[in-house]
Amino acid sequence: MLVLGAGMAGLAAARALAQQDYDVTVLDARDHIGGRTWTSRQWPDAPMDLGASWIHGIEGNPLTTLAEEIEARTFVTSYDSSIVYGPDGEPIDERTEAQLERLSEEIAEHILTAQDADNDQSVRRTVERALGWSRLSAAEKARVNFVLSSEYEHEYSGSTEELSTYWFDDGDGFDGDDVIFLDGYETLVDALAEGLRIQTNHPVQRIAWTEDQVVVTSGTDRFTADYVVVTLPLGVLKSGDVVFEPALPRNKQRAISALGMGVLNKCYLRFPSIFWPEEFDWLAYLTPNRGQWQEWVSLARPTGLPILLGFNAADYGRAIEEMSDAEIVASAMQTLRTVFGDDIPDPEDVQITRWAADPFAFGSYSFNALGSTPEMRDHLAEPVGDRLFFAGEATSRAYFATVHGAYLSGLRAAEEIVAQA
Ligand SMILES: Cc1cc2nc3c(=O)[nH]c(=O)nc-3n(C[C@H](O)[C@H](O)[C@H](O)COP(=O)(O)OP(=O)(O)OC[C@H]3O[C@@H](n4cnc5c(N)ncnc54)[C@H](O)[C@@H]3O)c2cc1C
Repeated sequence: MLVLGAGMAGLAAARALAQQDYDVTVLDARDHIGGRTWTSRQWPDAPMDLGASWIHGIEGNPLTTLAEEIEARTFVTSYDSSIVYGPDGEPIDERTEAQLERLSEEIAEHILTAQDADNDQSVRRTVERALGWSRLSAAEKARVNFVLSSEYEHEYSGSTEELSTYWFDDGDGFDGDDVIFLDGYETLVDALAEGLRIQTNHPVQRIAWTEDQVVVTSGTDRFTADYVVVTLPLGVLKSGDVVFEPALPRNKQRAISALGMGVLNKCYLRFPSIFWPEEFDWLAYLTPNRGQWQEWVSLARPTGLPILLGFNAADYGRAIEEMSDAEIVASAMQTLRTVFGDDIPDPEDVQITRWAADPFAFGSYSFNALGSTPEMRDHLAEPVGDRLFFAGEATSRAYFATVHGAYLSGLRAAEEIVAQA
């Protein structure tokens, strides 16, 4: 039995199958396991997660159980622990804070109303129409963009021009706190991978199946299996880099093309000292430039170190990938100097992600794009010919875009195989 992909979905499937005495081999294109959970060891005293950081909602979340089993060190961060800086760099006053809160509620209500309309449209169009965009002042537009970027684009990773008003938030979640792993998500990944046969540096190019077997090609290697679990990211399926023979069914192809693959990029900046208020987890900047450097996480509290993490999502998240590291840092520092003054030091070191360009992800996580429907995730998850089984975050209708969604999809695919074999 073969599992393609050693991310959370693949590891969950492989582990569940191996526990039931199936002979399982996992193949992954990268030189490391974990996929979009990827802990960098560039800073030996501070493991940094370049992909997922959080367990979102720890109550009833299967990842909480796993983390507890291995006694992983976790740390609660909270959106309530946040400060917002205005375009001039000063913390916003109570009036602006109240305005933002009202606007956020207003936008959510307009979206809710539009979810009952006869036709779907993008989240952006819904909001612009409802608010009378052309009549808004520049400051009002900046506030709308701020809410749309922080509450929609950073969470769902698609641009609000692409997010479906009907379906962008279709799905489920777990309650409770959000926690990060002090030793990196790798802690969980390594525990799941223990004892599994995993071959890294094996990019798969071709998956050919008949009624009897599946042949998977990676370079000059050929692997034959009774069953294959495909956990390739939606971005990779979209790219056509992996050829299926015969071609995948029409409804699966439609799902692959219609669902969105979004972008969320991270930029870790390590400074000589902490120059920001260290009691907050989240620092936000009400940027006059739509979506640019508005969300920051301070790692001062969890790590005690002078590290800031800047996020960019959707369009700007994609745009920075075209920039050099030096240009990205210069652009980040321009925002930080607006907020914290010209005297702040330059970073000593940086770590920057480019998930859209990553050939084994082509994006950060999936979203429900205008023109897609939640059923398409079920189509993506359906087995083909009782030989190919599908998992991965994008196949999870309830928990797409998350690590727990990927994990649960892997368990689901393993169960399907066991029921079939
Ligand atoms: C920046 C960022 C931040 C995120 N933050 C969070 C968060 O805080 N909390 C959360 O819950 N989720 C978060 N997510 C989403 C989460 O990381 C993913 O939903 C989840 O890790 C996906 O797991 P997966 O197994 O479906 O896919 P992957 O982890 O991508 O696994 C697929 C595997 O397939 C391999 N592969 C690709 N192409 C080939 C090929 N041709 N041949 C062989 N192997 C191949 C890849 O190398 C990869 O290892 C974030 C993602 C990103 C990028």
